[in-house]
Amino acid sequence: MENIIKGIVASKGIAIGKAYLYEKTKVNIDRNKIDDSQTSAHIDAFNNAIESYQIDLEHTSENNSEAKDIALAHIELITDPFLSESVSDKIENGKMTSDWALEETINEMVQMMEMLDDDYMKERAADYKDIGQMLQYKLHGIKPKDLSTLEDKYIIIAEELTPSDTSTMKKENVLGFANDLGGKTSHTSIIAQTLSIPAIVGMKDVSKRVEHGQEIILDSIEGRVILDPSPEEIEKYRELQIELEQEEERLLSLLNRENVTKDGKDIELVGNIGNLEDLDIAIGRGAEGVGLFRTEFLYMESKEFPKEEVQFQVYKEAAEKLEGKPLIIRTLDIGGDKALDYFDFPKEENPFLGWRALRISFDLEDVFRDQLRAILRASHYGNVKILLPMIISVEEIVEVNRLLEKYKNELDDESIKYDPSIEVGIMIETPASIMIAEDLIKHCDFFSIGTNDLTQYLLAVDRGNDKISDMYNNFHPAVLRAIKRVIDVSHDANKWTGMCGSMASDPKATYLLLGMGLDEFSVVGPQIPKVKDTIINSEFSSAEKFADKILKLSTLEEINEVISSE
Ligand code: PEP
Ligand code: MG
Repeated sequence: MENIIKGIVASKGIAIGKAYLYEKTKVNIDRNKIDDSQTSAHIDAFNNAIESYQIDLEHTSENNSEAKDIALAHIELITDPFLSESVSDKIENGKMTSDWALEETINEMVQMMEMLDDDYMKERAADYKDIGQMLQYKLHGIKPKDLSTLEDKYIIIAEELTPSDTSTMKKENVLGFANDLGGKTSHTSIIAQTLSIPAIVGMKDVSKRVEHGQEIILDSIEGRVILDPSPEEIEKYRELQIELEQEEERLLSLLNRENVTKDGKDIELVGNIGNLEDLDIAIGRGAEGVGLFRTEFLYMESKEFPKEEVQFQVYKEAAEKLEGKPLIIRTLDIGGDKALDYFDFPKEENPFLGWRALRISFDLEDVFRDQLRAILRASHYGNVKILLPMIISVEEIVEVNRLLEKYKNELDDESIKYDPSIEVGIMIETPASIMIAEDLIKHCDFFSIGTNDLTQYLLAVDRGNDKISDMYNNFHPAVLRAIKRVIDVSHDANKWTGMCGSMASDPKATYLLLGMGLDEFSVVGPQIPKVKDTIINSEFSSAEKFADKILKLSTLEEINEVISSE
């Protein structure tokens, strides 16, 4: 339809109001060659621009934590010697003006980022464009337009809102925003989620099709903008908006409540993260720690296997942010559907049954050593635990424990501190681990159930195959009984079981899992309040009876029926 523009939901919600078309001030770049006598003046001008922008950024750091993170990231980019070396070289040897040399350098950086086959790195190109723009303003003495002085409430429409735009905007007057560019992992999307502002990105031409002041609806449930909506549409969306706002307010009011059932059973509610930005979102939604840090993202974002020091810094920062709350770091789970640009994986007939996770770690000894040492070192700075993926045998845990002892001895020799009693848990995600759970628990401290893989392996249904996606179901009786079995095994051994697979984030499953005795729910950030809502409003004793009833059922149809009548 003509009056609908579609995009990618960056942050859920509904906004109804007038569009504010936010266009950047254009800068006229001087592309005339300079002569030798002018080069040092242009280099000075560039250095002054960097210095002045750095002072602005340091000043921004005092506002709020999102702005601070972005400012720090930008300070890192502008102080990277590569940037000034490249610009100076273009001025000195290419006889370019300072603004031209900057434009060229930023274009090269952006192109390089965008060429990488990695969404996260592609999104980082936005940061380079952002610092490029801000430095151009400095060079040209332009005071940039910003959204900090919005006089009225608006839905912001832009080609691309840069991280600096979103961090300085007057939040109380921003109803939502829609960008032509951007993806789910861009800073802008993450900020929108953290601030709970409805946002749609990747809309292609929204900034060309919407006029300043035009009435629009931003439906970031479905990911679309409706232009000139009818009174009926406005009415319908107002009702939906009120419902969502009331629900959100209610959920956020639970943030500081302890995660305890009505009859007093304590449940650990923690977050799943892939990077430090996810950690901020999870903490903002009330996570009491991290139940799964998927470290493979760190490997996917790098140009080579990340060295011990690089990993250590990330794990340490996460551990410190959590201030003593648990941080469960899973060792590399690559292979299957996750590849690395810089490593040649052999072609396999059945990659999900092939060389993945620990199997790779054992073969790439130095890579595994870097990771285990980084985790051990970070354990000194918080409550860090190790999680091992794809376990099928006791021997695998014994081997990891042997390696850990070896690296602990190395660290002792180097007088580097670590937590000597760091706990080691295993993912329960293979049928073998279910069958020998009694033996596995003797060699580890806890279980964490990975229902994404467990369901695919137990049912022999590929988790990524659309053709059979109807058959992939966490509520299949085989999956439910397997879950119950491992929880009971861990309790018999006075240990605990968590769940970090997607089922733990599914509000439909919360009551049932609670009743099965699950000790820890590791949930994706945005879903945490919903899961908490069910837990704190449930009686554990009733949930147990409910689970017993479900576990006796033999068909998915019966199970679904009881769950939906709950
Ligand atoms: C799982 O399999 O449930 C899990 C949490 O791991 P991943 O989705 O990363 O394979
Ligand atoms: Mg898995």
